[in-house]
Amino acid sequence: MTRITEKFWEDCRYFLKGETWGDWTKISKELIDALIRLRQLANRSVNIHCAWASGVGHSSKSMHYTDPCLAADVHITGMTILEQVKLAHSAGFNAIGAYPFWNKPGIHVDLRGLLGKPDIFWIEAEKGKEGTYTYYKTFEEFCEALKQIKI
Ligand SMILES: [Zn+2]
Repeated sequence: MTRITEKFWEDCRYFLKGETWGDWTKISKELIDALIRLRQLANRSVNIHCAWASGVGHSSKSMHYTDPCLAADVHITGMTILEQVKLAHSAGFNAIGAYPFWNKPGIHVDLRGLLGKPDIFWIEAEKGKEGTYTYYKTFEEFCEALKQIKI
């Protein structure tokens, strides 16, 4: 994995250095390349909620804490959660969390496959049960479960 440098931002058309990356110097090139693919596939804004974090605010083995960072939480303007998830999978993310009950429903995306970790998908439970997840090993099961969710 590689890191991005100051120079990267000069040519980056889709994201700004000043977005809420946590610390952009900790972001992996692989992560931002996948986010750019997602942005291009969506042809809409991919809004960054967070990326790198210093060991708090996410689950204990979170890819938000890896150095360089392999995870981001985002939402795509004007898309359903299922649409966002499908595009993220096409963009190459092998671990995707769906958060249908965020104020702006969105997704966690990460590239744990680069660390040799298997695909994993999850859905966060409804309000009042935040932090409770149902996990799926296949993308197909994950999508089927998302279709059943009433927001
Ligand atoms: Zn996350």
